[in-house]
Amino acid sequence: MQRIAIDMDDVLADATGRFIEYVYQRHGVTVARDELRTGLEQKAGVPYSQVREWLYEDGFFRGMAVIPGSQDVVARLMQKYEVFIVSAAIEFPQSLREKVEWLAEHFPFINWKHIVLCGHKYMIQADYLIDDHEKNLAAFPGKPVVYTAPHNVHLTAYTRVNNWAEVAELFL
Ligand SMILES: [Mg+2]
Repeated sequence: MQRIAIDMDDVLADATGRFIEYVYQRHGVTVARDELRTGLEQKAGVPYSQVREWLYEDGFFRGMAVIPGSQDVVARLMQKYEVFIVSAAIEFPQSLREKVEWLAEHFPFINWKHIVLCGHKYMIQADYLIDDHEKNLAAFPGKPVVYTAPHNVHLTAYTRVNNWAEVAELFL
């Protein structure tokens, strides 16, 4: 069985949407997905670097919405592949419990033995990695697949999926 490693933030969990939600709650401005990194500074005078602090706050990870289609397609992938959820969570220690709880709520069919919360991902051995960050894709020894997010639209070196229907097309 081939093995697929699947990232969480901006692949299963809508991290970008969570940032936009916090921007609105805390600064009263609405930013579009593709202007998150510039819009906060332009519209609220707050540097984008400030959003990083939210990653250390309780509840930030736990409250993320599920990216549409991911539950159904992951369940189908599990019939054909060995699926592992791989998330670089150690940098944000409070996210560990939140991510485990989030997966238990939204992906209850994934056994805890198939959840890898790690530091860097470069040592992950799998045939495929679905991820939104170039640092993870570039270091991956198998076949990397970029899941489209505003911060990776410029990447051209990777097989790209724009949504979970396209993941299903590619793998099923
Ligand atoms: Mg991610």
